[in-house]
Amino acid sequence: METMSWNQQIVKKNNKALVLQLMMEKEPISRADIAQVSGLHKATVSSLVNELLEEELIFESGPGESSGGRRPVILHFNKAAGYAIGIDIGVNYVLCVLTDLKGNILIEKNQSVNRTPYPFIMKIVQNMIQSLMDEMPHSRYGIVGIGVGVPGIVNKEGSILLAPNLGWTNIQLKKDLEELFHVPVIIENEANAGAVGEQQFGAGQDHQNIIYVSAGIGIGVGIILNKELYQGKNGFSGEMGHMIINLNGKPCSCGSRGCWEAYASENALLEMANQDSLESLIRLAEIRDEPALNIFDEIGKYLGYGINNIINTFNPDQVIIGNRLALAKEWIEQPIRTTIEKHTLTYHQSEMQLDFSKLEKYSTALGVTAFVVDSFIKEDSKTS
Ligand SMILES: [Zn+2]
Repeated sequence: METMSWNQQIVKKNNKALVLQLMMEKEPISRADIAQVSGLHKATVSSLVNELLEEELIFESGPGESSGGRRPVILHFNKAAGYAIGIDIGVNYVLCVLTDLKGNILIEKNQSVNRTPYPFIMKIVQNMIQSLMDEMPHSRYGIVGIGVGVPGIVNKEGSILLAPNLGWTNIQLKKDLEELFHVPVIIENEANAGAVGEQQFGAGQDHQNIIYVSAGIGIGVGIILNKELYQGKNGFSGEMGHMIINLNGKPCSCGSRGCWEAYASENALLEMANQDSLESLIRLAEIRDEPALNIFDEIGKYLGYGINNIINTFNPDQVIIGNRLALAKEWIEQPIRTTIEKHTLTYHQSEMQLDFSKLEKYSTALGVTAFVVDSFIKEDSKTS
């Protein structure tokens, strides 16, 4: 093989990632169509496709060999070439999934937790990953990476600077997992990951500007603008759970007062209800228990006030409500909609869609696997 300059190698790597990305999105697809959509030369596509075939990242099928010996022309992305692990660390649960390279869940592990010291959660996460690895099917690349969503402030290097509802500061989860499992690890804020999960696989697939409201024990927001996750300068965007909606209001886990999440989160709900779980409150609402219905109505209104502020600020196409409180959709949807109708600027309401998460509890876990696969395709696209 002729030697390439560094620049040529970069171009080739990028082209290869582009071809693989296209195959993932548009398969089944022919070589000619890849050339047309990507704008690359047919000869370039052909040589990249040959490498990808050798690497088993794609495979061929089609009409089969004709009498003239023509090669089958249809190409498929090999979603089983490897697997990704996605983990969602909540304040009261840990969820872990194994997916193929197209985000289909093969195996999941789920555990409720009632305390969150880092060593305790780390042990649960480690055991879950290990058992997924033991149970997963054989594949060429095995685990291509692990993604973790956490309810906290994560910098672009993957350090968890602060997760107030977990009681964590300066946690090096990425480093710890990489040392244990020797695969690339990506840590993301759970709301950012949830937004990407819904955009790629769920309720947000047809929209450009999406605000994902992750309403769990705390509230976080993931912002997608022009189809891209908006992360801010350091990756800290979307901490709207701490926008102040009540001067001198209730104290919040962040140390301030009057934050939105002190009024509209699962935590706020449990405080008001004097119940030990969202599930038990839902059971009461199902039998039309008046106090339970009133509490959901109140929480819905408070969610609506915050969402009003968000819609007036971003003029999004879509707001998606996800995480634990989406389980109570039946009782919180109407008060949310009524609050928005009453308060949000009319211009901003037109053509704005309010939806609930389609992936339900999987938004964050699937979102982090999307990051993992994306990075595998870009970085990996095997140097040869
Ligand atoms: Zn706060």
